[in-house]
Amino acid sequence: MRLTAAFLTVVLGPVLLGAFFVGSTMAAVDRSRSIERLGLAAAGVRTSVDALCQQLRAAADAVALVAEPAARPGAAAQVVGRGLAAAVLVSDTAGRTVHATAGGPAAPWQDCSGPPPATGPVRALAARVELRDPTGADLGTVSAAQPVDPAFVARLAAVTGVAVTLLDDGDHLDRVTHTTENREEREAVLAAARTVDGDRVTEAADGRYVRRVGPFPGLPLPLVLSVPGERPPGLNAALLGAVVLAALLAVFAAWRLARVTTRPLVELAGAVDRVTDGDLTARVPVRSRDEIGRLASAFNRMTRETGSYVAALTSSRDQLRGHLAVLGDTLASTHDLQRILRLILHSAIAATGARAGAVLLLDAGGVLVGQCTEGLEGRWPSGDPSDPATLRVPVGAGVIGAVVATGEPRRGRWAPSATPTGEPECETYIAVPFAAPRAAELGGRGGADRPGHPPAGGDGDGGTAGGGALGVLALYDRLGADEFDDDDLVTLRTFAGHAAVAVDNVRVHEEAQRLSLTDPLTGLWNYRYLRESIRREVERANRFGRMLSVLALDLDRFKDVNDTWGHAAGDAVLVEFARRVRGEIREVDLAFRQGGEEFVVLLPETDARGATIVAERLGAVVRDSPVPVNGHSEEPVRVPVTVSIGIAVYPDHATSGQQVLDAADDALYAAKAAGRDGYRVAQVGSRPPAREIPVPAGAASPPDGPARAGGPDTAGGATGGASSGPHPPRQSRGR
Ligand code: GH3
Ligand code: MG
Ligand code: MG
Repeated sequence: MRLTAAFLTVVLGPVLLGAFFVGSTMAAVDRSRSIERLGLAAAGVRTSVDALCQQLRAAADAVALVAEPAARPGAAAQVVGRGLAAAVLVSDTAGRTVHATAGGPAAPWQDCSGPPPATGPVRALAARVELRDPTGADLGTVSAAQPVDPAFVARLAAVTGVAVTLLDDGDHLDRVTHTTENREEREAVLAAARTVDGDRVTEAADGRYVRRVGPFPGLPLPLVLSVPGERPPGLNAALLGAVVLAALLAVFAAWRLARVTTRPLVELAGAVDRVTDGDLTARVPVRSRDEIGRLASAFNRMTRETGSYVAALTSSRDQLRGHLAVLGDTLASTHDLQRILRLILHSAIAATGARAGAVLLLDAGGVLVGQCTEGLEGRWPSGDPSDPATLRVPVGAGVIGAVVATGEPRRGRWAPSATPTGEPECETYIAVPFAAPRAAELGGRGGADRPGHPPAGGDGDGGTAGGGALGVLALYDRLGADEFDDDDLVTLRTFAGHAAVAVDNVRVHEEAQRLSLTDPLTGLWNYRYLRESIRREVERANRFGRMLSVLALDLDRFKDVNDTWGHAAGDAVLVEFARRVRGEIREVDLAFRQGGEEFVVLLPETDARGATIVAERLGAVVRDSPVPVNGHSEEPVRVPVTVSIGIAVYPDHATSGQQVLDAADDALYAAKAAGRDGYRVAQVGSRPPAREIPVPAGAASPPDGPARAGGPDTAGGATGGASSGPHPPRQSRGR
């Protein structure tokens, strides 16, 4: 509808303008031509009347020139006979008629050069000359006349080519004497003539152009001249028809255009609405090859590609969900680090659309070692770090090394020839470091070396890089895009977070296993930790030149306790015994349950004399108060317990941790053999020479520490007096 209106405006405007222009131009041309014709006709009328007047004057002159008065009537008759005038009149000085030709026009005659008559119609035009005798005396006048009748008016019309109307007088336009116009024309012409005077031209109601001529001296006749307009009669109708036709054409063209243009646009708008509502199957018909058709096919292509893009996105989302589900399950259920890392890598590759990738973990030597890779030929880790095929990058070297060294992720591209040595060949890369989530906590674990509290490993945390990095997750060659972008970085950080948690979990798990070093019954350190502790304490004693005393303890006749009071009572005795031992030693001392009812106490920086004091104290604290246990009856029974103790001192009695333990065991045997409930100090030289850790030659007691035991005398003084006795046959200690 709007299109139709626009078309009407666009088409009708110029057409109307053109029609107006044509119409007005033709009217102007017509008017100017008619004015010209009327001007010529007015001149023609004056010329004709002038000529007539001159002819009449000549005729009068001819009569006046006859000298003989008697010959004048003959001359007058001759003039009339020759048609020079309609009538001749001779009058005397008094104005009386002397002679008149017969049949002349009625009086009064209008003199050609006289003023026009005030009223009444003009019946005839006349010229008058004076009549004189040869002496010049005035004898009267001679007048020659011609009638003003319909024939005269018709002649004027014929000479000028326009319609001529003769009025009665110049002031009364409705009184017409003679005319060549018909009745209807005359009324319109006279009505128009009333509105003009002088030389001006006006247009009558019926289209005729009208001009008045006379009366004035020389032309004493009041005349109205008129010509018909020369415009074709149907011009206005034709112009109107043209305008209407143009309007109809415009409406038709608009309707046609609307069909061609608007309908596809309406269809397109509908399809766009459907797409907006989520229907990506919406298509529009392509009807032409013009811009509209191209728009339609572009729309179809757009929706088709959007549809497939959405489908691809949906499937990749579903895939990712699947990966995440598997990832979650795996992370929750396994400590198999390789498997977890492989899964994380696989998911990261699927999520970012990379071609290849690798997970590298920092080893103790500050080298990143490939744990698992995907899409990298010949770079699959064999599990053997010495395998040259395994991806290995030192910290700080190349891109991956720099990522770990700085803790900052990197992405970019490099020419295959510019690949840093040792790193995979690729075009684009992205590498994200991952750090232990609890790095700070791990760093604070060192001070757990207290009795009853499992110590930290202290070593084995190879991470030496900035930010406590555990490793790197790196992807290579993004498919379907130029480079890895910020979104990929965010995605990869997520997966790196997973990897960090997994690695950390596994490490914590391993550490927890390693840290299960306590005896669940008594809460003392267990045998495994004894071995580690004795090694560490011997090392420390060596480093600082101090001594280390070892006490081996075994409850006496413990089998009898079990046999008499039951196993549970035996356990209670063991718990109570452990409690008492802990209460008697320093904070730096370590108490272990070696197994069964056998215990070991390590006394750092303690010589044999100090150790015997501790042994005496321990023996007393056990012996002095029997242990209350729930026996077979309701009432608790008090079980008397004693303990035998063997003492050995490093480096006096041994050259290694194992030797000093053995020496203490030997001394324990001696104490048992000596009747139990007592202690014995090991014999110097009773053991074979050093096997494991040699004692530094220059080792000497520092001034502030206890002096190293020099000989057997310092090690003697056992309460049981069994210190120097021969060893009993060595029994198996059941280790
Ligand atoms: P002695 O050492 O004085 O020669 O005599 P004993 O009776 O202590 O001899 P032995 O060392 O051969 O016996 C150890 C006994 O300790 C054997 C076992 O019944 C008991 N025993 C070992 N471990 C436990 C334990 O964890 N709980 C209990 N209740 N008894 C244990
Ligand atoms: Mg025993
Ligand atoms: Mg025993």
